Amino acid sequence: MDGFSFEPTGADEGVAAAIRVLADKQRILVFTGAGISTESGIPDFRGPDGVWTRVDPAEFTLSRFLENPETRRRSWQMRKESGVLDAEPNGAHLALVALWESGKMLAVVTQNIDGLHQRSGLPARAVVELHGNAHQAICIECRDKTPTTEVLERVANGEADPACRQCGGILKPDVVLFEEAMPVLAMSRAMHLAYDADAVISIGSTLGVFPAAAVPMRAAETGAALVIVNQGETELDDLADVIVAGPAGEIVPALVAALTGSPPLGN
Ligand code: NAD
Repeated sequence: MDGFSFEPTGADEGVAAAIRVLADKQRILVFTGAGISTESGIPDFRGPDGVWTRVDPAEFTLSRFLENPETRRRSWQMRKESGVLDAEPNGAHLALVALWESGKMLAVVTQNIDGLHQRSGLPARAVVELHGNAHQAICIECRDKTPTTEVLERVANGEADPACRQCGGILKPDVVLFEEAMPVLAMSRAMHLAYDADAVISIGSTLGVFPAAAVPMRAAETGAALVIVNQGETELDDLADVIVAGPAGEIVPALVAALTGSPPLGN
């Protein structure tokens, strides 16, 4: 590689090994989970301070949401307080824009619902959202979509469980709840990308939520190199060529800088 070169020292050995595996790859698929956004202030689900250490996931099933107005009231209240809608991209999100601009990245397939990949500057065509997007709400009857900020304004003005303005149906965040089917087009596009990729970088995911985790799994099983960047173990560690343990906000910029021959953003 020419241009910027990464000099590994001790703790950076994982990054150096990842650079060796990825250096000649031209069709890199990036797969992201909640861990890429914790440095933007959004808690993950299964990490040590994850949401599931405080809240019971059984409360957030589709059937509960549809049957119980109290669940819907609580859900909108939690969205309002979560800070997801106001979060800013961090260094890892921004580095992926540089990887996309280098022409080496096929796309980002994300489990995240925070919209931070688009907010960091990736075009919509470069992002495949497997679990929806919290910035939108959808009517379960007429499928009309409304910005979540409008729904939350109605909540702030006293409507605890706002109904669809078009048909009066139940409004739901446009995200995949437990028990809910995956978006068919997004999943099919993600699997095509998995088969097309010569490498996958998985960032900030336990790789334990299926079918989403089938995307990096199938790519690795069919010959793509798999690099995992995560704090903590993942379910697919056995399939990985390289595991880099540490904060995505530091590791991803260093990795991308070396792969694209440019200094890390901010330097
Ligand atoms: P997860 O919560 O199961 O796991 C996140 C992993 O990232 C953990 O292993 C954690 O230790 C690691 N991690 C945390 N901070 C990190 C950092 N700074 N650098 C590197 N690793 C870090 O996440 P998941 O596998 O994505 O699955 C959870 C599901 O919850 C997803 O399906 C997603 O839809 C949803 N979710 C989304 C958001 C979001 O949009 N930001 C947040 C929480 C949950």
